[in-house]
Amino acid sequence: MRTGTPRSLLVVGSVAYDDLEMPDGTTQRRLLGGSATHFSIAALPFVKARLVGVVGRDFTQRDRETLSTRGIDLKGLAINDDGDTFSWGGRYSENMDDRTSIFTHLGVFEQFRPVLPDRWNESEMVFLGNIDPSLQLEVLSKMHNPHMVAMDTMDHWINGSKRDQLLQVISQVNALFVSKEEARALTGKRRIIEMGPELLRLGPTTIIVKDGEHGAHLFANGFTKSMHFYVPAFPLENVVDPTGAGDSFAGGFMGQLALSHDSSPDGLRRAMVMGSIMASFCVEGFGIEQTLCVEHSDVRERFRTFVEHTRFNQ
Ligand code: AMP
Repeated sequence: MRTGTPRSLLVVGSVAYDDLEMPDGTTQRRLLGGSATHFSIAALPFVKARLVGVVGRDFTQRDRETLSTRGIDLKGLAINDDGDTFSWGGRYSENMDDRTSIFTHLGVFEQFRPVLPDRWNESEMVFLGNIDPSLQLEVLSKMHNPHMVAMDTMDHWINGSKRDQLLQVISQVNALFVSKEEARALTGKRRIIEMGPELLRLGPTTIIVKDGEHGAHLFANGFTKSMHFYVPAFPLENVVDPTGAGDSFAGGFMGQLALSHDSSPDGLRRAMVMGSIMASFCVEGFGIEQTLCVEHSDVRERFRTFVEHTRFNQ
């Protein structure tokens, strides 16, 4: 891991309170979550991100400090006293592979217009978390020549009335993070190996397709030959809560690229491993509780174990 000055990393997305219903019937209420929260916390071992989002009058000082004391820059986190923070409820199936949304209360997110603090439009790297594609476009239009822009999205935008706008955002970013189900909805293809090239045709030069406990695939062009890399999920005995795993994967991936300044094929492979590692920490606790405690040394140790698990001689 290189430890020079990291590239500046901006994230725009949701800051939320999550309610979860777990397979054993237990519930968790008002966990601090949201795409921008999970992303920026997972990026912490690498870089302190700049967060753009909105919270409402119910957002606690304690939750604000949870983010700020770790060094996440909250100058772009607006407070709107006219309503409540975005909240989302999810129910997990028996094997935790499937999740159903029980409710989505937009709250102050409904009127959200991203405002970038002074000079944040010069951020070198940008992650457009899962939000309305028109807001993603708005942020993109404000950025001044970023080195790399990546984005995430969800089925709601892929299958809904904003699909055209979503395709427009996808055509303008360098990297796209999608789950296998989202990639299927975008391409109509059955297998990940067919989805990758199809998604590359939409514009990005890097595609990451996440497949839960089966790991994640990276497809990239723009090198002398096109690239496909597969990273397994870090094997865990105890998965507590998968919420935020996708955003944590993106946080680890982008954080590593911000720190290493290396987006060569080898650099991208290492970023995939860091994504997988940060997602593995995320699912070991509820909400952000586990990811928050991760130190650089924990990442290095899991990295070494990863190499052990996957190395073989030719
Ligand atoms: P992931 O498990 O990586 O897909 O991310 C889950 C996070 O996404 C949760 O913390 C939710 O608060 C957040 N979330 C769920 N639905 C939405 C939505 N419609 N817009 C923005 N964020 C959302």
